[in-house]
Amino acid sequence: MADVVIPFVKDLRFEYGALESVSPGVRRVIAHNPSAFTYAGTGTYVVGHGEVAVIDPGPASPEHIDNLLRGLAERGEQVTHVLITHTHLDHSPGARLLVERTGASTYGFGPHGGGLRAQEGDDDKVEEGADLAFVPQIAVQDGDVIEGRGFALESVHTPGHCSNHLCFQLKDERVLFSGDHVMGWSTSVISPPDGDMTDYLQSLSKLLDRDDARYLPTHGPPIEDPRPLVGAFIAHRRAREAQILLGLARGPQRISELVPHMYASVSPLLYPAAARSVYAHVLHMLKDGRLATDEPFSLHAVYHLP
Ligand SMILES: [Zn+2]
Repeated sequence: MADVVIPFVKDLRFEYGALESVSPGVRRVIAHNPSAFTYAGTGTYVVGHGEVAVIDPGPASPEHIDNLLRGLAERGEQVTHVLITHTHLDHSPGARLLVERTGASTYGFGPHGGGLRAQEGDDDKVEEGADLAFVPQIAVQDGDVIEGRGFALESVHTPGHCSNHLCFQLKDERVLFSGDHVMGWSTSVISPPDGDMTDYLQSLSKLLDRDDARYLPTHGPPIEDPRPLVGAFIAHRRAREAQILLGLARGPQRISELVPHMYASVSPLLYPAAARSVYAHVLHMLKDGRLATDEPFSLHAVYHLP
């Protein structure tokens, strides 16, 4: 099956720890936490000048927060708002350090799992990478506008990668801070139960209905032409679904049997992560009736065509 070509953008120019301009109203400092999930590291954004908002303060790294505050102190600037796209360990734990040192208020959708529907999933595996400690001082919902001196940021609820995921639009520049929902260097990880493929696909479609000119994801470079990328991510997931249906056309199978066919070109070391992604698709396709199982649904159940 022909793979969808995703127009990735990966060329990131930066210096660790330096507060660098990315647009007239936005600066960024990247934390030194590179990994297979964070690319070069967490990009912490500063919005405005003088009194500023910080989006995704990153991991609980005193060094990173030092770098951020040093860059602002050099110009006599203060942090008044701390916004969180979602509660993963590379995004929200730095908020505690930043609030201790600035007294700024925190904004987010809610605590981890805050957007999760109660009955969802039988898979109670505790999610690695979740920040269970963060609770926003001010809970914001889809469409809420967070205003500071000289900036206004609109919240866009985009569950999928994480049930409490928010993007934020800087209205003046039509820039969308896209968190981990849409990144230029990689597809997003959708891992049940907090990760939800149905929500993710809806949240991608939601962005196609908007007119944002540019995305600034938390990891990787700015995305200057976002709509074709979002469209390709949707097509990529549809192609995965087609692969699952093709696999089940051979007969009932477990996810562990589907994965080696679907991910023939990747290292078997990545199969466990791939299985969670396929499981996210399977749950989505169970909901809309495109596949079925005769046992309680789980990562290990046998699935078949209806
Ligand atoms: Zn992240």
